[in-house]
Amino acid sequence: MEFKDLTDAQKAKAMVCKTPDEILEFAKNEGIELAEEQLEQISGGDWTSGNPVIYCDECHKTVEVTEEDKARHRIVCPYCGTFYAL
Ligand SMILES: [Zn+2]
Repeated sequence: MEFKDLTDAQKAKAMVCKTPDEILEFAKNEGIELAEEQLEQISGGDWTSGNPVIYCDECHKTVEVTEEDKARHRIVCPYCGTFYAL
């Protein structure tokens, strides 16, 4: 299982995981098998790359969280205009 093979919804969930334990829990819940090597990457914080994303419940799209969004503690889905608190 590669990170890029996850669905957008799974990626969004994985990216809000803050600790390796949370990611392991997520993987277990999603039925994702992680190799030893991947576990090491996760522990090393190498699991995600680029900006975090959120998954919009309204329009089912993945929205990238920018530094600006983080500073404002909110994000607006560019596709449907739904507000999310960060
Ligand atoms: Zn949306």
